[in-house]
Parts: sequence; C-alpha cells; structure tokens
Amino acid sequence: MGKYNYKRRPTSVTSVAGIGIGGDNPVRVQSMNNTSTRDIAGSVAQCQRIADAGADIDRLTAQGTLEAEAMGEIRRELRRRGCDIPLVADIHFNPKAAFAAAPLVDKVRINPGNFVDPGRVFKKIEFTDEEYQLELQKIADAFVPFLRLCREHGTAIRIGVNHGSLSDRIMSRYGDTPAGMVESAMEFLRVAVKENFNDIVISIKASNVVVMTQTVRLLIQAMDAEGMHFPLHLGVTEAGDGEDARVKSAVGIGSLLADGIGDTIRVSLSEDPENEPPVARQILAHIDAMKSDDIADSLPEDAEPQRRILPKVFVHGLDDPDGEVSTVRFAEGNRVGRIRTYLAEHKGNTPICAVVAYPPEMSADEVAVAAAIDLGTPLLDGLLDGIGIDAPQLSPERQHDLLLGILQATRLRFTKTEFIACPGCGRTMFDLQTTLHRVKEALQGYPALKIGVMGCIVNGPGEMADADYGYVGAGAGRISLYRGKECVEKNIPSEQAVDRLLALLRADGRI
Ligand code: SF4
Repeated sequence: MGKYNYKRRPTSVTSVAGIGIGGDNPVRVQSMNNTSTRDIAGSVAQCQRIADAGADIDRLTAQGTLEAEAMGEIRRELRRRGCDIPLVADIHFNPKAAFAAAPLVDKVRINPGNFVDPGRVFKKIEFTDEEYQLELQKIADAFVPFLRLCREHGTAIRIGVNHGSLSDRIMSRYGDTPAGMVESAMEFLRVAVKENFNDIVISIKASNVVVMTQTVRLLIQAMDAEGMHFPLHLGVTEAGDGEDARVKSAVGIGSLLADGIGDTIRVSLSEDPENEPPVARQILAHIDAMKSDDIADSLPEDAEPQRRILPKVFVHGLDDPDGEVSTVRFAEGNRVGRIRTYLAEHKGNTPICAVVAYPPEMSADEVAVAAAIDLGTPLLDGLLDGIGIDAPQLSPERQHDLLLGILQATRLRFTKTEFIACPGCGRTMFDLQTTLHRVKEALQGYPALKIGVMGCIVNGPGEMADADYGYVGAGAGRISLYRGKECVEKNIPSEQAVDRLLALLRADGRI
C-alpha cells in the first residue's frame, strides 16, 4: 500500500544530454517513434512532432548496427533544425547495435532479458549453482565494456525490464514473476555499481497494472537494501489504444507518482506517438494539483485494505445506489487523500462507494485521466466497495464505461475483452493501428478473453505475456497467430489474418 506522502523518493540524478532525470528535477515525459531509423526524413519529422507534442526525451528502435548508425544522422539533422530532444536507442537481442549506438545517441536502452542471453528457448530451465554463476560472469564480460564505452561518450543507459521478456536463467529460478523481473534488473545494476557507472535509469514494466505497480515497489525495496537510488522510468506496456489505454496508464503511473515514485514516464499508446505526451502531461498536471492540497501530509499510513464486496459502479443519474453501500462524494482538492482520510475515520462494516465529482470546465479527456488516478489508486490499495462519478461533460454511458474501465485496469471486475497491444516501433511491418481497430470491433464484449496484438515476432510472443491468443507481425505484411505461447498459424498474409484469428477463436469455442 502506498503512503501518499507525495514527497518524491530521493534518487541520484542521471543526465541525458544535459536533461536531469531524478532528484529535484521535474518528472520527464518520454515517447517513442514508430518509424524505421533507415527512413531518416520520416524519423526526423516524427521526432520533431513528438518534441512539439511535449516530450522531453524520445526513443527509436535500433534492430541492428545499420539502424543504430542511422540514429547519428537523425540526431545531427534534428540539431541542425534546432530541435535538441535527447535520443535514446532501443536495443533488443543485439549488443553489437548497442555498441554502435552508444557514441551516437544520448541514451541506450538495453533489455537485461536479452542483452547477453539469446532468445528464450523455453526448454532448458534448470541451472546448477555453478552454471548460474557462469551465466552471471557472462553478463559482466559483455556489460562492462559497454559501460566503459558509454562513460567515454557521456551516454546514459536505461536498464529496461519487461514482463514476459526475462532470460531462461531468471525464469529457471524465479519464473515470470515480479521477483524475477526485479532480479533481472538487479543483476545488471550490481555490475554497473561495481564499475562505478551511475548514469542509469531503470524501468520495469508490465501490461498488467497490478503487476507493474507491485514490481516497481519491489524493485525499490531491492535497490534500497543494496544502497542504490537510481531514478525510475514508469509505464504500462502494451496498453493498447483509446480510453482504456489512457485509463490503464493513468492508474498505473498515477498511483505510483501519487506516492512520490517515478522520475520519468511514458504513456504507451497504439496510436500516433505524438498522442502520447499530452496524456502524460495530463497525468502530471493532476498529480501536481493533488500535491497542492494540504491534506496529503496529514494522512495516516496504517490503513488496512477494507474492501468488503466486489466493487460496484454508480453513475450519477444512471444507476442509483441500492442501499447496499454508503456513497460519499468527493468533489474537490486531492480526492485520493480525502477518500483515504474518510476511510481511515469511518472504519466499520458499511461498504463505501466513493463518488468523484469534477467541475464542468474540465475536458472529458482530463476527467477520464483524473478519475482513473483518483479512483484507481485507492482501488489498487484494496480500498472501496464501489466507485462512482459525477461529471456533466461525460454522457452517463461514457461515465459508466469509464468506471468499468477503471475496475478492469485494477483487475477487480472484467466486463470487456482485454486487449494487450504494443505501440509499434521501427520493427512493426503491418498497419498496427488499423488492425487493432478491426480486431477490437470484432471482439468486443468477451470479458474472459485476452487478445494480444503485437508488432513483431522478436518481442511480441514473450511480451504479450498472459494473452490467450496473439496476433503477431512475422515479417513484411505477414502475421502469425498464437494460442497462448504456441504458434498455431505462421506467415499468413496480413489482409487475411483478422478473419483467420476469428476463425481460430470460433473453432476453439471462445466466441
Ligand atoms: S512488440 Fe511492438 S513495440 Fe515491441 S519491439 Fe515489437 S513491434 Fe516494437
């Protein structure tokens, strides 16, 4: 459970091309291109749009050394045009690309699950202690020269762990668990600390908001125990698009920021990347407004989870409370703090429904982000038996849908199909946005179903983690379909793939 003291967790400061991350610096906003770096003009134009949309830092994928080298040209062209947004190279499975990028960019993101370890084979899952130690030595052997190269060029590093892309070594000891994700980061951090390399940011992401928030808190405990205080990048991966994606991100990122955790954030959307920074800014603006309410500092820290019933949803004017719960309205200031204080002062057996009200001058999108933080944060902490909203700028139907989205994001009630969709990047070789729309249109309203729509075969199958079925880009215009982690149809032309996915679901009796 969070403490809601709103004081930023003290961290070291990592400098990325002169922009400080952590410490007393403002929380930085990041986004990521979905262009190939080989398309220099297209990438430059998109970086510029992302910067103009409010991002402080931008990332591009570098699959190989050629794509990494192209980033140098993109960076030069941006600087020539007066755009000084720091660029981050995103590396998976290819340390050579990381070495090629380090002298040319401002930060390199590596994934500890695949920087040294090859792609997971899902076969050998037993390591003796001796074999395990040898594997750790391999990490140091590969990572230390990289740290030295980055130090030489003043390049920062993001150690970015993702749920679903852990090495076989970690899986053998920890499974695909929060503890495994944390250890995956710690293995690399220990090497960096020993080498006295400190220009590091850590991220530890999952598409499941509950897993993401728990894992970040666990990572902080693990770092604290070893005297490390690196800044943290927050994000919910594969959040998808539209309001549900905004809600998932606002709940996950907002609940941690409300607890003083997080130094840089990305709202990851399967939309045009320039849509991402404004949502991140809305989250930050709402957190700033919460902090300005004095109530935050007076909150008790010992509240226990108090949920008594499956959370219900109440929309002002649509559903009237049926007398089973006591509804309490929170219409101003720091609603999270006020809900928490109210619950601490009214312990008892009466189920409580918190209704958050917003003034008409807030836009509908601002209300969605604010409500996701204000209601999602206490729900994640096991509080509240019902949630409600009173916001005249949203139709009753949209309010109802928003509340159900918040309950689904907090994994408390499933009322719609869960879509796990990556934002796309330079590896995506089909029209991800159109495909996601088609899949969503065809598969609304199956609460027992989780569908992954992932841009590439390199990261997709692992990172859709707990999807029941996956639609994964296999090559230019080619799709593979997965049932769980098993590939059941390979290299289908993309124009046939949505229909084949639906046929597979029908054959399995899932729709
Ligand atoms: S899963 Fe999506 S975002 Fe991740 S590397 Fe592949 S295409 Fe890029």
